Amino acid sequence: MKVLNEMKLSFMSKSVNEGFARGAVSAFLMQLDPTVTQLADIKTAVSEAVTNCIVHAYPDGAGMIYITAKIAEEGKFIVSVRDKGCGIADVKQAMEPLFTTGGEERAGLGFAVMQSFTDRIRVTSKPGRGTTVTMVKQLKKDE
Ligand code: ATP
Ligand code: MG
Repeated sequence: MKVLNEMKLSFMSKSVNEGFARGAVSAFLMQLDPTVTQLADIKTAVSEAVTNCIVHAYPDGAGMIYITAKIAEEGKFIVSVRDKGCGIADVKQAMEPLFTTGGEERAGLGFAVMQSFTDRIRVTSKPGRGTTVTMVKQLKKDE
């Protein structure tokens, strides 16, 4: 996979930064000339991943969130959202729809949303070390 362009972003895990992250990633994505639906899909998926870092990763306060976005050949968009927070003990279980450790306030649908709005998602996590969510979306279909 040949990377044609790349950007990196780091910011504190505060809820005011959720919109900033979503906006920055969409601004970067614009050079691929996405459809309205594709843009909305990426915004929603990034928003869910960043919200998870804000809500779950740093239970004792704010930590940093790191985003890398890449544009590869043939309109492939790759975005990863990483934290150095508490990590997830059982990733498979965490990704099941409706699973949440957030109690009444949370639906447990964040990962399901990320999954359905992108073409591929990979989650790696180590308890005590942090979590990385990498999502791939194919924007231009090569016919
Ligand atoms: P919703 O996204 O619907 O508000 P949710 O955040 O609980 O609810 P998911 O986004 O699917 O649901 O995440 C499932 C669970 O995975 C969370 O409840 C949490 O336990 C864990 N989790 C997700 N992201 C992280 C993260 N970055 N760090 C630590 N734990 C996480
Ligand atoms: Mg969530």
